[in-house]
Amino acid sequence: MLKVAVLGAAGRMGREVLSCIFEADDLTLVGAVTETGDPLLGRDAGELVGASSAGVPLTDERSHGLHAAQVAIDFTLPAVTDANLRACVEHGAAIVIGTTGLEQRQQKAMEQAAHEIPIVYARNMSVGVNVFMEFVARAAKALGDGYDVEITESHHRHKVDAPSGTALALGERIAGARGRKLDELAVYERHGKTGPRVPGTIGFSVVRGGNVVGEHAVRFIGAEEEVEFFHRATDRKMFARGALRAARWAAGRAPGLYSMADVLGLSRD
Ligand code: NAD
Repeated sequence: MLKVAVLGAAGRMGREVLSCIFEADDLTLVGAVTETGDPLLGRDAGELVGASSAGVPLTDERSHGLHAAQVAIDFTLPAVTDANLRACVEHGAAIVIGTTGLEQRQQKAMEQAAHEIPIVYARNMSVGVNVFMEFVARAAKALGDGYDVEITESHHRHKVDAPSGTALALGERIAGARGRKLDELAVYERHGKTGPRVPGTIGFSVVRGGNVVGEHAVRFIGAEEEVEFFHRATDRKMFARGALRAARWAAGRAPGLYSMADVLGLSRD
């Protein structure tokens, strides 16, 4: 049984991770860490997600939560990432970091800690999204400049930014495959007299409505054929499942900073 601790256990993602751990028969929860002052402190992690008692109370002491852990999963805030990293180095635990918005300084701290422990860091932990990204990038390279690229994304009516981070990341991968920067190729708006399509550009379209969890389509439109890639997210649990896949992969591995592409065997030398 792989011994796992969850950092940020009371958060939205933390709870998804807890549920997935309780469903798995090869994982056991040994620590659940939350912030000081959390009214849920001391509550059992199992009860938190409507499962039976796990015998693991929520704690605000990292060293207590991590002392028996082989791997930690972190979905917290950038402000606590440094302390989480230090604690994992101290305990010799691997760490999977899903927290987004890390500063460059923190990325450096992560690289430093990766000399001592295995770290998997991914701004998107979904297995499907990572596979999708990889195949889109490969297609962009193989198809070449003769195919017009159009990226469409759809999200729920509450989302406040556009295009989505994933759509932008897709654009960056496609531009990179063409040896360019996204800024040079992106077309975010079309309205009125647009003129004909400029060859080589990457067009973005955005849909907002209802409860759509997240959809991304990338179309490579050639003169005689079209290739389309599509990903639909139906539940944010996909991020937790990906994080647990990364945890299983990272435990016992040599120290280093790894990506989901490494976890999924998509990295190429
Ligand atoms: P959330 O606000 O629901 O949860 C964050 C939790 O961190 C809170 O419960 C808070 O109590 C806890 N926390 C704060 N300080 C802490 C400390 N010192 N020790 C332990 N816990 C502490 O947010 P969320 O929706 O669960 O997202 C968390 C992070 O994960 C965000 O950065 C989000 O962008 C990111 N995220 C990443 C992915 C991915 O695939 N990489 C997917 C979803 C969310």
